Amino acid sequence: MQRRPVQGRNRPSAATNGPDPRPDPSLRTEGGASGAAARAGRAGLPAVDRVLHAAGAAALIAEYGRALVRDAVRAALAARRRAGAAATPEEILVDSAAALARLMQPSQRPVFNLTGTVLHTNLGRAPLPQEAIAAAAAAMRAPSTLEYDLDSGRRGERDDHVAGWLARLTGAEAALVVNNNAAALVLALNTLALGRETIVSRGELIEIGGSFRLPEIMARAGTRLIEVGTTNRTHLSDFAAAIGPETGLILKAHTSNYAITGFTAAVPAGELAALAHRHGLPFVEDLGSGALVDLRRWGLPHEPTVAEALAAGADLVTFSGDKLLGGPQAGLIAGRADLIARLARNPLRRALRLDKIRLAALAAVLRLYADPDRLAARLPALRLLTRPAEEIAALAARLLPAVARAFAGLATVSVVATKSQIGSGALPVALLPSTALALRPSGPGPAPTESAGARRGDAAMALARRLRALPIPVIGRIEGGTVLLDLRCLEDEAAFLDQLEQLAADTA
Ligand SMILES: *Cc1c(COP(=O)(O)O)cnc(C)c1O
Repeated sequence: MQRRPVQGRNRPSAATNGPDPRPDPSLRTEGGASGAAARAGRAGLPAVDRVLHAAGAAALIAEYGRALVRDAVRAALAARRRAGAAATPEEILVDSAAALARLMQPSQRPVFNLTGTVLHTNLGRAPLPQEAIAAAAAAMRAPSTLEYDLDSGRRGERDDHVAGWLARLTGAEAALVVNNNAAALVLALNTLALGRETIVSRGELIEIGGSFRLPEIMARAGTRLIEVGTTNRTHLSDFAAAIGPETGLILKAHTSNYAITGFTAAVPAGELAALAHRHGLPFVEDLGSGALVDLRRWGLPHEPTVAEALAAGADLVTFSGDKLLGGPQAGLIAGRADLIARLARNPLRRALRLDKIRLAALAAVLRLYADPDRLAARLPALRLLTRPAEEIAALAARLLPAVARAFAGLATVSVVATKSQIGSGALPVALLPSTALALRPSGPGPAPTESAGARRGDAAMALARRLRALPIPVIGRIEGGTVLLDLRCLEDEAAFLDQLEQLAADTA
């Protein structure tokens, strides 16, 4: 399961999402200019034009443009009128400036991800390396050879920018990229099993993040789901018995965000592949995170690699670009050249294709994989996952005094051991030792009554809200009435400390 960020919702509420960018419709019901001026005068409010000529208006107009400032002034006047309050033109301009600043702030903002989930889907998953950022910027800035072959001067293939690298890194004959792994799976199922049956183990009918449910994706891809086995145990004979004239393919899905433990049995991919091939069927494996390198190299738990899945007999493997791979959102498909060619001819592929910006970023990330020795230093996702526990602990010790000062009177701050998780469905049960700052709200003591516990919960939520209100919002997680800031993913220590001073000033 994904651990939720403190904000607790997938979609930020209207309050945290900035003002509604539509003009206030009530303004359109205003009468003629003279009627409006008369009514404004009655409430002790200036007319719009007077505000627009007051000192300070010109600066706002220079920053935001006349139309936006006029709308903001009207809205500010309307708000004062509703409240029955008088105001000077200067006060209206102050209201307008604040509203305009909120309106023009990007709604997608950088945050500090201190949730302890490294690849947090709600917070944008993998941070990209400099090389990818530069490549994406270059692709945005000028025309490029996106689908153009310089040698022949003819049309080229956009996927060629990454297909060669993917083949090289996974041992696949061929590869193709689409918008995300969900799209990769849709394309594979729709191409190979349209109007036919797809056999899957009951233990692998995954749901990821609510909107991705394997049975629903399969229905939309036009294939009929044949579930075999039971939740905890599925045998090769279950698959064999399900194969018939209508079978299109056998699918294995990585149980990304949960683990079935105890009395269990799953069929190894190699045996499933052999069974599929005996019946002339393709065997497709949805690896989810799909590591390109063996993470044990850095002391991390083993996550099956794409190369391993292909070597075990998968005809096609699908995986994400922005999970363990550490790149931009993308869905990658690697495997047999004849099947990849069929996928490439599916008209859906055009609807699912990747844009030049992400293609450039993905290619840059794949080039980093050419040198595994330096990968952990250069690829942020891997750098954060492999960050030494002592380094995180030292960071916590360094930050403690400043954070304690900033929260003096609001919370007592201490250093605690915690565990980070990888996130995004990779290694759901593997936890990485880490260190957090624990902010325990001052106030109701540890009285073991229910109401004191509830009050502590509310106080922790209030602390979390304060952290989210910072210029670069800090997103932690709440555990047992305490806000935990897992420091594994905090790299810009200076920026974090800078805004703490602001927090202290706010509360003074
Ligand atoms: C994450 C995941 C998906 C969805 O991948 P996206 O790139 O988010 O579309 C599909 N299958 C598995 C097994 C996953 O872990």
